[in-house]
Amino acid sequence: QAKKSGKHQCVLFNQVIYEEFARKMQLIEALKEAIPQQQLSLHYQPIFRLSNLHCEKLEALLRWQHPQLGMIPPDVFIPIAEEHNFIIALGEWVFAQIIQDLQQIQQQFGKVEICINISSLQFAHPASLEQFLVTLNAQHIPGEQFCFEITERLLLDSSVNTMAMLNNLHHAGIKLAIDDFGTGYSSLAYLHKFMIDYVKIDKSFISSLTENEKNQALCKTMIYMGNQLNIKLIAEGVETQDQETLLKQMGCHYSQGYLRAKPHPLIAVKESLIQQD
Ligand code: C2E
Ligand code: MG
Ligand code: MG
Ligand code: MG
Repeated sequence: QAKKSGKHQCVLFNQVIYEEFARKMQLIEALKEAIPQQQLSLHYQPIFRLSNLHCEKLEALLRWQHPQLGMIPPDVFIPIAEEHNFIIALGEWVFAQIIQDLQQIQQQFGKVEICINISSLQFAHPASLEQFLVTLNAQHIPGEQFCFEITERLLLDSSVNTMAMLNNLHHAGIKLAIDDFGTGYSSLAYLHKFMIDYVKIDKSFISSLTENEKNQALCKTMIYMGNQLNIKLIAEGVETQDQETLLKQMGCHYSQGYLRAKPHPLIAVKESLIQQD
C-alpha cells in the first residue's frame, strides 16, 4: 500500500516538475516577443517623506501583460530575463520609457525623484548604463532626478568595473539605494564605502513590525546607523497605519506601501493620491 502511494507521489512529483519546466519554456519564448509586441508597461509607486507626507519619489515598476498568459509578475519574469540574456534589453526599454514619461511626470509632480530597479547584470554589461548617462547629457536632463535601486549582492561581488560605474553614476548626480535591505549579507557600516544615499528596509521586516520586537530592534538599529552614516531609510511594504506610526516614531525617513499608494500607470498615479486625502 505504502509502496503504491509512494510511486503515485513520484509520478505526481515528476508531473509537477514537468509542468513547471514547460511553463518556464513557454515564458522564455513569450518574453522574446514582449518588447516587439508592446506588451511591457511601467507602473509608478509613490514614496512619501514621513515628516510631511509629501510624495518625493516614484519607483518605476515593470509590468508584462501577455495576451494569453495574462499579467506575469516581475518576480517571475525578471529572474527568467536575467537567466536568458533579456535583462539588458528590458533595462534599456525601461530607461527609454522613463525618459519618454519624464515631461509628464514633471508636469504632474514637479520635482520628484524617479527610482529605477537595476539588475546586477546591467553592471556586468555596462554599455546600457553608459548609454543612459550619454542620453541624459545630450538631453540636458539632470542626473539628480534619478535614483538607481541596486542590491547588496552587487556590492559584495563588486569588481573594479562595478566600482568605477558606481562612481560615474554618483558623479552624474544619480542617487543610489540598496533595495530589499536585510535579506542579504552586508551591514550598513560596509555600505558606507559605496556612496549609498538610501537603504530600503525589506518588506519582510515591515509586515510583522508591530508584533515582532526583534524586527523593531533591527529597524531601529538600521535607522540609527543610517543617521550616523548619512544614509536615509525607506521602509517598503508599509500596509497599516500602525506600521507607519511606529516607523515615524523610530525616525524612519520615507515610507512606500499600499497604505498610502499602490503602483499605478502614470496617468492614474496623481489621481490615486488625490482620492486619498
Ligand atoms: P522591489 O524593487 O522590492 O519593489 C517593491 C515591490 O513591492 C513591488 O512589487 C511593489 O508592487 C510591491 N509593494 C509595494 N508596496 C507594497 C505593499 O504595501 N505590500 C506588498 N505586499 N507589496 C508591496 P512588484 O512590482 O511585483 O516588483 C517585484 C520586484 O521585481 C521588484 O521588487 C524588483 O526587484 C523587480 N522589478 C520590478 N521592476 C523592475 C525593473 O524595471 N527592473 C528590474 N531589474 N527589476 C524590476
Ligand atoms: Mg525596488
Ligand atoms: Mg524593494
Ligand atoms: Mg522587494
